[in-house]
Amino acid sequence: MVNLILFGPPGSGKGTQAEKLAAQYELLHISTGDMFRYEIKHGTPLGLEAKSYTDRGELVPDSVTIGMLQSRVDANPQVKGFIFDGFPRTIPQSEALDTFLSGRKTPVTALLMLEVPDEELVTRLLGRGQVSGRADDADENIIRNRIQVYKNETNPVFDHYAAQGKAFRLDGVGSIEDILDRLCEVIDDVLE
Ligand code: ADP
Repeated sequence: MVNLILFGPPGSGKGTQAEKLAAQYELLHISTGDMFRYEIKHGTPLGLEAKSYTDRGELVPDSVTIGMLQSRVDANPQVKGFIFDGFPRTIPQSEALDTFLSGRKTPVTALLMLEVPDEELVTRLLGRGQVSGRADDADENIIRNRIQVYKNETNPVFDHYAAQGKAFRLDGVGSIEDILDRLCEVIDDVLE
């Protein structure tokens, strides 16, 4: 089993690359951001709770996020592996992931971090906001708050996996194909 974490700030291209990697390595792509947007769109109780956080660019509480992620993993016992996109985003989330993957005897294989300068992130997200209609991409203050939350709460997750020798940094600026090539090079090395 292969379990990859695609990591990086908002707007770094995780979703785009995760989809391509999922196809290439036959993994199930799990995006917590997509899961929250689905719940919000359908007006479920979970969606209503999540919306109050996502609209402000804050993280949804760990208790909600971890339970949602675990049920998606548990619902897919037959897959070859997972590519996690947008999870884990806090140290408690990474500890929870390690615990339930070790219960399945399939630890995290590697974490891949896409590095992109802040100003490029803001430009990309404002551009996405104009086409996607995502409330959290429409306002520069909310975008900057998400980048700050990433630095404060999410960045430590890199060190958590670096301590296990599983974390890799990649340049996230360039064409989609170039970045995919960089990711595949690291993944193929790790899988050898
Ligand atoms: P981006 O990476 O562009 O910020 P996502 O689609 O990954 O966008 O996430 C959108 C929002 O959903 C986040 O700003 C946050 O509010 C919420 N969210 C997604 N994943 C998590 C998570 N693992 N923990 C807490 N909140 C999350």
